[in-house]
This record gives sequence, structure tokens and C-alpha cells, in this order.
Amino acid sequence: MFEKLKKFYYTKILRRKYYRVGKCKGCGRCCRQIYVQHSGGVIQTEEEFEKLKRQHVFYTYLKVTGKDEIGLIFECQNLDPETHLCKIHDKRPGICRRYPQEEIFAMGGVLAENCGYKLEPIETFEEIMSQVKKDAMKVTLWDRLFGRRGNN
Ligand code: SF4
Ligand code: SF4
Repeated sequence: MFEKLKKFYYTKILRRKYYRVGKCKGCGRCCRQIYVQHSGGVIQTEEEFEKLKRQHVFYTYLKVTGKDEIGLIFECQNLDPETHLCKIHDKRPGICRRYPQEEIFAMGGVLAENCGYKLEPIETFEEIMSQVKKDAMKVTLWDRLFGRRGNN
């Protein structure tokens, strides 16, 4: 019963496709290889980034460490290089508390290598296929009742 309620809450209320499972190993990798996504896409230039800094304090923590085909690569200056731990752990921003979120996939990203978390699909492949079939049947029924009369 609890599992059903949990599933309903995650899929229908939160509109999630994945459960986040596991726990942080404190490796600090996700604080090092960071791409910054905003409404216009992944940040490509330092000029773009300067504008973004005014929007949220999190961006002021970041410094550019490189660039690749995706965009600028940042590292957070709150990461302790010796311990690999966050120096402001108790006051870290929400975006850090929520990591990893499934939006990472929507942005074309992946989890940091060897991250202690996993994102597991909430619905099995069979459940998804069953829903696809039900939706297809609904469309067919709707067409028969109300549409496509002129085509047959
Ligand atoms: S604020 Fe802390 S948790 Fe967030 S990216 Fe920086 S070092 Fe990592
Ligand atoms: S990559 Fe994963 S395990 Fe490593 S610090 Fe980030 S959340 Fe924790």
C-alpha cells in the first residue's frame, strides 16, 4: 500500500520518472565538473556567466576551469581541495541539496562518475508499454466515436 501511494505521489503529483536512491560518498566530483544551464542553454562565454551571477548566489561560488564542446566548465570554490567536502555544507544552496535530480538527463547530462546515488525508473518497461497500449486504445475508441468519419 505504501509503495503504491509513494508511486502515485512521485508520478502524478511530482511528475517524476525516477526515484533517487543511494547516498553521497563525499567524493566531491559533482562540485568540480559543472555545466551551467539557463533559459538560453548551457553557458558558453564568461560574459553570459557574469550576467547570471546577479540572479543567484550559487553562481558567485563558481569559477571557470575550462571549456569543451558542451560549454564552459566550472568548479565550486566552496569545495575543500584536501577533504573534497563542502565548506558550507550546512548552508549549501537547494540546488546542491537536491543533487542529483532527473533534470540532469533532460539536459543531456549524466551522473558524476562513481556517484553514490542512482536514479532508478519508477515504472518498469512493462508498465510503460501497458500504458502506451491503453492510450492507443483510448485514441482508437475516440476516433470511432467522434472522428475520422470522412476517411473510411
Ligand atoms: S556549495 Fe558545496 S555542495 Fe554546492 S557545489 Fe559548492 S562545494 Fe558542492
Ligand atoms: S558525485 Fe555523488 S557521491 Fe560524489 S559528492 Fe556528488 S553526490 Fe556525493
